[in-house]
Amino acid sequence: MLKQLLGGLTLLLLCRLAAAEEPALSAEQLRFVTANAEFTLLHEMGHLLISELKLPVLGREEDAADQLGFIGLFLLYGKQRDTDFYQKLLDVAEYWRLKSLRPKPAHEEIQPWDSHALDAQRFYNFACLAYGSDPDRLEWMIQTTGLPVERALYCDEEYRQAQYAVQWFEQRLQRPRGSPVRQRIRVLYDEPPGHLSHGQEMLAKVKASGELEAVANKASEMFDLPRDATLRLTSCGAPDAWYDARNAEVVLCYESLEHFHQLASSRALPRPPAR
Ligand SMILES: [Zn+2]
Repeated sequence: MLKQLLGGLTLLLLCRLAAAEEPALSAEQLRFVTANAEFTLLHEMGHLLISELKLPVLGREEDAADQLGFIGLFLLYGKQRDTDFYQKLLDVAEYWRLKSLRPKPAHEEIQPWDSHALDAQRFYNFACLAYGSDPDRLEWMIQTTGLPVERALYCDEEYRQAQYAVQWFEQRLQRPRGSPVRQRIRVLYDEPPGHLSHGQEMLAKVKASGELEAVANKASEMFDLPRDATLRLTSCGAPDAWYDARNAEVVLCYESLEHFHQLASSRALPRPPAR
């Protein structure tokens, strides 16, 4: 019994040491985690806007939230069409490709009847929107992502349609200029779970970046939301994110950040060509 207990203690100590020696996130991993956390947040904010502003939706809400989230990246970084921005778009698309390739248990496979598109389809959808945003400058994206030319041919139209839809409701639903911001989206940070190797580091970096507050403020200021809402970074027990319409709460899980980190570490990430 004592031997077992000592064995257990040694294991615990080794785990602690391993966690303590875990190298900090590399700049590339941090960039990938940040891009995908931002996109996930914007996708869930898409659900919030659909629900709170009663946006009309044709097609599946999950596809609409993907388009709102991806076009949201252009709204956040609209003036910054540089290598860093295109790297961000590539990171978001690449996540879905890596996720589609990762071996997973049957219950984690997205089924054809699911309300979400298959992971590989989401990869091509994002690659297409990214390329379609500026086909003259972004021809390299076809090679980098492997987007088939049959799809690439119409990506500029796909991008224009999505951008037009966002512009359309922005013009109709935006808060009148000069009117007070009555409803706010507040940001709450719960403690990360102790077992996540980069939990505290990620919490510190997310807080320091101020990105959650920037997205929450932008949405509060752009639209007259019918009620206050919350954006919460919390522990959920599994990689996930969702919009809880009953409580007007967007939830982003620490486990998702860890999951982005694991996938970023699994293989080399694509890059825009050097200029
Ligand atoms: Zn969704």
